[in-house]
Amino acid sequence: MIRFDQVVKKFGDNVVLSDLSFEVDPGEFVTLIGPSGSGKTTILRLLMTLERVTSGTIQVGGEYLSHMEKGGKLVPADEKHLRQVRKRIGMVFQQFNLFPNMKVLQNITEAPIRVLGTPRAEAEAKAESLLEMVGLSDKIDAHPSQLSGGQQQRVAIARALAMEPDVLLLDEVTSALDPELVAGVLAVLRQLAETTDITFLCVTHEMQFARDVSDRVVMFDQGHVVEAADPEKLFTEPENARTREFLKAVL
Ligand code: ATP
Repeated sequence: MIRFDQVVKKFGDNVVLSDLSFEVDPGEFVTLIGPSGSGKTTILRLLMTLERVTSGTIQVGGEYLSHMEKGGKLVPADEKHLRQVRKRIGMVFQQFNLFPNMKVLQNITEAPIRVLGTPRAEAEAKAESLLEMVGLSDKIDAHPSQLSGGQQQRVAIARALAMEPDVLLLDEVTSALDPELVAGVLAVLRQLAETTDITFLCVTHEMQFARDVSDRVVMFDQGHVVEAADPEKLFTEPENARTREFLKAVL
């Protein structure tokens, strides 16, 4: 579903990703772990088309991201192509980024109505069922400022799901939460991973969560994959010395 092929990303002289290749299968839940500054957020930003590759290619569901095919050749993607692929990819951020002036319901229905052209009644019915799924039916008329951080994050998850993405990117979704609010958000994500065929790519410092929910954990350092394995293997018998050193520091 997601495929990075020899991706290089530079910011000026700073080579953030160097020859990065990895794949995430359809329906798989993959978590990226690695030290601060190793380029994890840059990977998510490339997938959200907020950044473009310096070289190499990225594909989502068989479609190129920074490129498009024209006359049998790969050329840089135009805005129209980027808009098309972007629709398939949802993202939930560390800072929930809800629209503060809109009620919960409108936060969820805004993009389906405006971007997908979903009829309002249909978008609202869908929003109601998503709110039920994240346990917030009673907050449908609340404003974001009236919700706890954990509740806001669950609304942000419902909002991303309302676009029916093939891929959901999760960027440190629990880092801004008080510890007692983390469990509720993680429970919602665990349920989604188990009950939907969405493909997840997650960046987190929550090693317990990475271990519980991921199908595969990818250890990442200095712009490339150091080691990838199922969580039990990676957390209990890491093969790479860099992985061992990292886990020793964070566990
Ligand atoms: P953390 O775990 O701390 O969030 P990370 O692994 O997500 O770190 P990135 O945020 O991807 O790391 O950053 C990787 C490197 O890219 C850093 O050296 C950062 O300074 C650099 N970088 C990221 N975005 C930009 C930008 N827009 N312009 C210049 N440099 C950038």
